[in-house]
Amino acid sequence: MKNDCIFCAIAAGEIPSFKIYEDETVLAYLDINPFSTGHTLVIPKVHTGCLLDTPDETIAAIMSRVKKIAAHIKTALPCDGFNILQNNGEAAGQTVKHVHFHIVPRNGSGGLGFENHAGDMQALEELAGRLRMK
Ligand code: AMP
Ligand code: ZN
Repeated sequence: MKNDCIFCAIAAGEIPSFKIYEDETVLAYLDINPFSTGHTLVIPKVHTGCLLDTPDETIAAIMSRVKKIAAHIKTALPCDGFNILQNNGEAAGQTVKHVHFHIVPRNGSGGLGFENHAGDMQALEELAGRLRMK
């Protein structure tokens, strides 16, 4: 447990949460400032900062629970669809430095608030060359 971490305090039961699921590895509870009704956070009970700090086995366990919890929310709420969000670093909007996955229920059509830009084919080709993993 990390001392100054609010999600560790929630996992330890020191701070209350609107818990909807718990097992030996993860905890899921409602986001207190939800994007939509049913917006849920899924966290590992053991502290890690972001995706890159988190062991593969933990990520695998969290993702299987994210799927299970999202399926439950979709039926129980219900909702038409959902987004899974996972922010890493301040630049990406990560405000709580304990890795977490957002399940954001969605209804109707609309999708996300990201904007597509017309791709520059040459720039894409160069970028792919620079980023391609060996
Ligand atoms: P992120 O921007 O990805 O770091 O998301 C952090 C999320 O945690 C935000 O959506 C907050 O509304 C949520 N949050 C912060 N404190 C609490 C809390 N005590 N209980 C539930 N959700 C929280
Ligand atoms: Zn923590």
